Amino acid sequence: MGVASCWTRGVGPTSAPAFGWSGVAGSLPTELADMGVDPRSVELVLISHVHDDHIGWNVTDAGAPTFPNARYVIHRADWDLMANATDEEDREIFTTTLEPLEHAGVVQLSEAAFAVTDELRLEHASGHTPGHQVLAIDSDGERALLCADLVNHPVQLLQPGLAGASDMDPVGANATRSAWLERIVRDGRTVAPAHFAQPFGTIARDGGGYRWAPLPG
Ligand SMILES: [Zn+2]
Repeated sequence: MGVASCWTRGVGPTSAPAFGWSGVAGSLPTELADMGVDPRSVELVLISHVHDDHIGWNVTDAGAPTFPNARYVIHRADWDLMANATDEEDREIFTTTLEPLEHAGVVQLSEAAFAVTDELRLEHASGHTPGHQVLAIDSDGERALLCADLVNHPVQLLQPGLAGASDMDPVGANATRSAWLERIVRDGRTVAPAHFAQPFGTIARDGGGYRWAPLPG
């Protein structure tokens, strides 16, 4: 299974909204091509949440789904958030990266936990956004979690009560983060936070908080 979790991959092309503030051109299509993945062969796109640095490749410059044969799974709470947005920036994100998917008929809204396969389970982990989702992987006795923006910076492991600046509901995000950190340690999951300097690592208890240990690159 290919994994695209690092945020620079999700920013999108230079025409995408997140390029304006990040100055980063996302590299997802190039990296998929390097792995020999044809976008037409992708059947499912799991969207962790609707921040623009995570959905920049939803559509092409021409406004068509980048993965024309895929269903795009988005949590209903995040879809509603953006579909009903009145803020100008969020309206632009919706019209450029989400509405075209609706017009193409490829949106699948999730609500509770969503079993993608026997080994992949999408779980609602709200707080960062109302519909933020993480992907648990249980395969061949190994466990991982693509945790998107559950934790935005390693300092939040040292101080688990520290909300991220982009957490829409800081209290809810803290509660979700605390609960998941306990589960991650208990299950021994390798984690892939979207915004850490290293894409994969493990988390262990350390005093009153946790310690991040990146996997060798
Ligand atoms: Zn985010």
